[in-house]
Amino acid sequence: MADSGSRWRVHKFGGSSVADAECMARVAAILEDDPRPRMAAVLSACRGVTDALLQLVAAAECRDADLRDRLTALRERHATIAAALLDPAEASARVAEIDGDCAEIAGLLHTVSVIRGAPASLRDLIVGFGEIWSTRIFSTYLARRNRRRAVRWIDARDLIVVDWGPLGPTVRWTESSANLARLSPGDETLIVTGFIARDAQGQQTTLGRNGSDFTGSIVGNLLDADEIHIWTDVDGVLSADPRLVPDATIIDSLSYEEAMELAYFGAKVIHPQTMAPAVARGIPIWIRNTFAPEKPGTVICARPQSNHQVKGITSIDGLALINLEGAGMIGVPGTAQRLFGALREHGISVVLISQASSEHSICFAVPDAEAARTAEIVRETFKGELERGQIQSVGVTGGCSILSVVGDGMAGTPGVAAKAFSSLANVGVNVRAIAQGSSERNISMVVDRPQAGRALGAVHSAFYLSPHTVSIGLVGPGHVGAALLDQIALQAERLMRDFRLDLRVRGIVSSRRMLLQHAPIPLDRWRDRFAAGSVAADLRAFATHIHTDRLPHTVIIDCSASAEVAAEYPRWLADGIHVVTPNKRANSGDLPLSEAIRVARRQGSTHYLYEATVGAGLPIIQTLRDLRETGDDIRRIEGILSGTLAYLFNVWDGTQPFSAVVADAKASGYTEPDPRDDLSGMDVARKLIILGREMGMPLALADVQLEGLVPDSMMAGDTDSFMRRLTELDAPMRARLEKARGHDRVLRYVGALDAASRSARVGLVELERAHPFANINLTDNIVRFVTGRYDRNPLVVQGPGAGPGVTAAGVFADLLRVCAYLGARL
Ligand code: ADP
Ligand code: ASP
Ligand code: MG
Repeated sequence: MADSGSRWRVHKFGGSSVADAECMARVAAILEDDPRPRMAAVLSACRGVTDALLQLVAAAECRDADLRDRLTALRERHATIAAALLDPAEASARVAEIDGDCAEIAGLLHTVSVIRGAPASLRDLIVGFGEIWSTRIFSTYLARRNRRRAVRWIDARDLIVVDWGPLGPTVRWTESSANLARLSPGDETLIVTGFIARDAQGQQTTLGRNGSDFTGSIVGNLLDADEIHIWTDVDGVLSADPRLVPDATIIDSLSYEEAMELAYFGAKVIHPQTMAPAVARGIPIWIRNTFAPEKPGTVICARPQSNHQVKGITSIDGLALINLEGAGMIGVPGTAQRLFGALREHGISVVLISQASSEHSICFAVPDAEAARTAEIVRETFKGELERGQIQSVGVTGGCSILSVVGDGMAGTPGVAAKAFSSLANVGVNVRAIAQGSSERNISMVVDRPQAGRALGAVHSAFYLSPHTVSIGLVGPGHVGAALLDQIALQAERLMRDFRLDLRVRGIVSSRRMLLQHAPIPLDRWRDRFAAGSVAADLRAFATHIHTDRLPHTVIIDCSASAEVAAEYPRWLADGIHVVTPNKRANSGDLPLSEAIRVARRQGSTHYLYEATVGAGLPIIQTLRDLRETGDDIRRIEGILSGTLAYLFNVWDGTQPFSAVVADAKASGYTEPDPRDDLSGMDVARKLIILGREMGMPLALADVQLEGLVPDSMMAGDTDSFMRRLTELDAPMRARLEKARGHDRVLRYVGALDAASRSARVGLVELERAHPFANINLTDNIVRFVTGRYDRNPLVVQGPGAGPGVTAAGVFADLLRVCAYLGARL
């Protein structure tokens, strides 16, 4: 037709895009940004107005009393928009029209309530006003806002002529084109009412719910537009309905066929009928976001460029499965024809059909509401066969949903169906029926409605997420937990890029509060989020949230020091949640808990890693495990296992009282908040128990010979009163130091395990000045393994053994180890 410079462009704005005055201003700006001299903008009714009008009709049918109020509310809503956008004279002109329309509607509603029913023609008349109101206000606004451009309001009833058939409206192109010629549009912006049209008899009709998309495409065809832009409230066509699948991602481009299939199977963003008029002229359709016009959106066209095999996954609810079964159908030609012929005669639309090649059964899906009637029709049609037993039964299963996987790329690609089915099996969803179109563009699975959400999530993640996506919950955002989140934040992007490892922290819980989120918590802002959005802590609810079916793996990281949290490990591990922790409670607590953890790990095939329980980030547990598993004979483990006590004895040279060194250390943050936790030797005893159990000695606390530095008399009371009495330690400690010096030795707080004597000791010992334990720095830990292989010259691990940074790094390393066990190639 015309050269591209003067070709038309069609924009269609959905109800969400014209919800209020602010939205309409946004729409006007979008149109102004389009330099085309010739444009058409098709508008829906303001959001919710069509629904409200339909409800009015329903209310009139039941003679509800508040009809007038509801109508007034609709009028007010439009009057408010007009007042905000137009000058007073224009606004009152528009509102006067709306008042006239409302009077007409009131009259129609009166008729509806008198006859207690609304004929389709009446209903169409009433519900079409939404588009008339939105477009009238908008076109007045646009004309005023930009006087350089001519704006013309077009009532689609003067343009589009359709016939309504069982499959919906079909356009009468000849009449519609003639109408267009009569309107003879030129260099101007046409503002067109969506949704409404006229039939061959000249009666007003609609294009069906969400029909404005169809209007957009019809207008695009009539004007031979070079592009149609459908503006909505999402960034484009998503891989699944974002309300059901929060991880859904934007699809860059789709073929018309794919889009049609997605729309038919429930992707609400496009109306199924939209495509045909655009396809007929090969016009690309863009789906774009009114609220983010800078985003590219999705293009639907004849030859899309996309790397995705699968384009989208949809679900439709409210279906029933009808199953016709009997040996009498085998090899009998025409059975299917009789069946579907009968359904067609009764106007029942079949959503999906599946027939096994044995022809022993035919199974199909219809809307739930039609199920009983359908079964009746089928029984009637096959009455003879049922009586003769050639058909055994006509079964009806209500409450089903269809899940469809759509994509051109599936054709000839093996494994797509297998991936879909195995992901359903993994989350325990039963598939009732399957259908695959011979185009291989679609695989549909019928599942029970209550399982549909889970099914959708699982199939979506199988196709769209990295198989190494991990849902992470962090317990205890204290020093270590916070350092860990910060470390993950710095590495997340690299891990994703290099290894497709997608670490998603979706929950944080402290002893009092918790923050749960479906989408990953932005780790550069987790503190603000946690402060702003957290609710009362509930560990069970936390674990349930983190362990979502939607993501392939779950890890809970416990950075608390809580026994209560540790008590949950068996439940988590048995449920399939991997656990990583620096919390010593589980491994050094009651033996039955350790045993329960062992059993749960087996049961859930899960991993439980706790390197940072001993020596912070130092490789101590892993070293021990490697030694054991390679068959070494571990004879003795000894070392300085407390960063705090290491520090105290490294620093204390006798020039000051012991209490002063402790007070300094506390002030510098080198001790626990209550230094007795360190000085009592309990922490070292716990670590020794952990190491003991790791080397096959099932130790309990009672088995450890523990020499603490705090006398029993000072163990009671709060931290402050203990700190005030701290000087009571000075004299006995000085005596110990003097004695050691007398032998030219130093004091160190050491833990030792001995396999032969099955003993575990913790206490202060005198060591020669040359001893490796006497020559460590600050908070260093040092551990010596004496084994069959490392006998005369033991294996030594040494380095900083305390502090949030190194401890968090140890936990992080464990997390990555779990990911590697789960298949990530790190
Ligand atoms: P409009 O008012 O613009 O016509 P609709 O409500 O009709 O908007 O359609 C847009 C909505 O469709 C989105 O907000 C989204 O929630 C929903 N939706 C369902 N499936 C999809 C999908 N696959 N991709 C994008 N959006 C979808
Ligand atoms: N307003 C009509 C509806 O809500 C048409 C549309 O918005 O597409 O169905
Ligand atoms: Mg829509």
